[in-house]
Amino acid sequence: PVPQSVSQLFSLDSLLDEEELAIRDTTRRFAAERIRPHVAGWFEAGTLPARELAAELGGMGLLGMHLEGYGCAGMSATSYGLACLELEAVDSGIRSLVSVQGSLAMFAIHRFGSEEQKQQWLPPMAAGEALGCFGLTEPDFGSNPAGMRTSARWDGGDWVLSGTKMWITNGSVADVAVVWARTDDGIRGFLVPADSPGFSAPEIKHKLSLRASVTAELVLEDVRLPESAMLPEARGLSGPLSCLGEARFGIVFGALGAARDCLETAIDYAGSREVFDQPLAAFQLTQAKLADMALELGKGQLLALHLGRLKDRHELRAEQVSLGKLNSVREAIAIARECRTILGANGITLEYPVLRHANNLESVLTYEGTSEMHQLVIGQALTGESAFR
Ligand code: FAD
Repeated sequence: PVPQSVSQLFSLDSLLDEEELAIRDTTRRFAAERIRPHVAGWFEAGTLPARELAAELGGMGLLGMHLEGYGCAGMSATSYGLACLELEAVDSGIRSLVSVQGSLAMFAIHRFGSEEQKQQWLPPMAAGEALGCFGLTEPDFGSNPAGMRTSARWDGGDWVLSGTKMWITNGSVADVAVVWARTDDGIRGFLVPADSPGFSAPEIKHKLSLRASVTAELVLEDVRLPESAMLPEARGLSGPLSCLGEARFGIVFGALGAARDCLETAIDYAGSREVFDQPLAAFQLTQAKLADMALELGKGQLLALHLGRLKDRHELRAEQVSLGKLNSVREAIAIARECRTILGANGITLEYPVLRHANNLESVLTYEGTSEMHQLVIGQALTGESAFR
């Protein structure tokens, strides 16, 4: 029999329409040709040519692709998810760049910004000529952003922002930071141009995960901004949380891309590696591992697709995004580690993508709501009891 991919085994393509298949295929080709040849090198060096890459991703229509107008592609949520999957099949860092730009920074401006803010920022961000970041997390407040200390005070007709944000993707390469801060009127969002006096974004080095992604601290030392810098329509924590819901949705699909790449690598490796005079793939233990991983990957994709359809019908609820984010990332990291065993010692090198994906997925497990927080959200939905505190 001819070997089948997981997608073929589950007949997944039969669930996608023409446009979705076309977006998936063009993104896959772009990622294979333009990113895959370089990504292990970027990971090793701990760098990412974010601006050049953003211009290319923008040219492909992949930045803010599920938003309408202002130069955005206006694609379906499911198409956006499929593009995330293909990008993360190459590296979670690339998908992170796209998630932060499109689902966090652009979505915040699109949903909560003034007409003037949208006109100024969205077209260049969609084209990848301007980069954005999203500053919610602080050194002392990650899972519980309600405790944030960054403040914005009203002073002589200006806003004055002070505080520190931590672990901010795209932070040191961004032209504009969406910064969430405490005001007398609750938590509000602000657009902070990177050249504002008092604003700096030192890069965080020595990461062992998401090395092909820029991560920075945002330091705001009495940054003075005009009244028009505030996002007028976002009030309270529901503003940033709705942006996170968008980015988490992309991860539901994205993480499965990393898992698929690991599984394809392991199947390929097991087919050519001989142990005890036989291909590794011919041993029952190997096949049991591969079968179990294929099952989780296929089930994960079915769940992701179901959530995508719900989102396209505007019916997707926050606890359902938690189901998908928790499942996809937890299973993806388990698959990456299991695939690493199949590659033996070769699995620990950068010659193969498997441990790079596994290491990246450690960040994906933690950001956009840790696995534990998503368990608590699901637990709350099941019991009606909040166990957050
Ligand atoms: P903590 O909140 O301190 O959690 C530590 C542990 O305690 C976790 O296991 C957590 O699940 C657990 N825990 C917390 N509360 C509870 C509870 N009630 N019950 C049980 N267990 C609990 N943030 C941004 O704002 N913008 C970004 O662009 C961004 N990019 C990131 C990029 C990377 C590479 C990484 C690693 C992080 C990024 N983050 C970003 C931050 C990320 O969102 C936070 O790290 C995450 O929310 C967790 O916060 P924390 O690290 O402070 O962990």
